[in-house]
Amino acid sequence: MVSATKPLVTWTCRDTIQECREACGGHGYLKASGLGDLRNNFDASVTYEGDNNVLIQQTSNWLLRQWNKVREGEGVASPYNTVDFLSNAADILKKKFTGRDLQDVTNHSFILNSYQWLICWLLQETHRRLCISQERGEDKFTARNNAQVFRARTLSLAYAENNALVYFWRRCVSQSLDSTIQSVLVKLHVLYGLWCLEKHLTLFYQGGYATDSSLADLVKEGILQMCSQLKPEAVAVADSLAPPDFVLNSVIGKSDGKLYDNLQAHFFHNSGAMQRPPWWNEIVPKPLSKL
Ligand SMILES: Cc1cc2nc3c(=O)[nH]c(=O)nc-3n(C[C@H](O)[C@H](O)[C@H](O)COP(=O)(O)OP(=O)(O)OC[C@H]3O[C@@H](n4cnc5c(N)ncnc54)[C@H](O)[C@@H]3O)c2cc1C
Repeated sequence: MVSATKPLVTWTCRDTIQECREACGGHGYLKASGLGDLRNNFDASVTYEGDNNVLIQQTSNWLLRQWNKVREGEGVASPYNTVDFLSNAADILKKKFTGRDLQDVTNHSFILNSYQWLICWLLQETHRRLCISQERGEDKFTARNNAQVFRARTLSLAYAENNALVYFWRRCVSQSLDSTIQSVLVKLHVLYGLWCLEKHLTLFYQGGYATDSSLADLVKEGILQMCSQLKPEAVAVADSLAPPDFVLNSVIGKSDGKLYDNLQAHFFHNSGAMQRPPWWNEIVPKPLSKL
């Protein structure tokens, strides 16, 4: 679980910081926004503490071992019950998407069922690719390399995404939650689920889970709907994480919300902001007679 979650989280954070920088336009690019430093400092986390591309293979290796057990009619060894559903793989792989309305995709069951199908199908495909290598007489290293890029790697990420969604859902339905918070968390759950599934759409068609355009159309519409429903909650959701100003260290992200006042103060108080730069003389046009 950890070997796939670390790559998922760090790759997502890397892309999110970049998305935030672009969302803030030129202001995001300012040194004082802190986003550039955040991006640079964070970047190494996809490499250290276990390089993502190496670490993630540990998860697919484990998943493939569970798949072999299922194929041999044995039970899976899944202490946290994350892949118990593999014992129903034969039935799961027969499922087809039959939804016709937005409500058919903007819910927990759709997301859960789609992920279970996707993980089973990717396991089947990764195993199939490894068998092809074996038949061709390729060595184990080559076989594993060739099964990685389009299969095992995606498999591990899908497994990590599913775990994140399953654990988050448990929180959503916990009795101790205030109902107003619950409704926002459920929307976040659906948005994250659909956003992740959208990246795997090709596979649902490749594997025959969907045939006409409705799955792709509904997932994309569902994302738009969740975004508009969450828009009024966006500031509260961001504030719920509430890193102190000292930690955020960003002139455009201060908790007082006075973006332009803070920017102006920062410019004005920057050392030398009101003085000529030392090179001013070099760019002043010289009179022709002195050339
Ligand atoms: C800022 C920073 C701080 C660090 N701090 C520490 C520290 O405190 N202690 C410490 O011990 N180490 C530290 N490291 C080292 C870090 O652990 C290694 O950089 C990391 O393990 C990757 O190894 P590498 O640099 O040799 O890259 P390589 O292993 O050469 O990787 C290069 C590329 O090849 C890919 N690759 C490599 N092997 C495979 C494979 N089998 N399959 C598919 N793709 C593969 C990688 O994904 C990567 O894209 C630090 C690194 C950085 C950047």
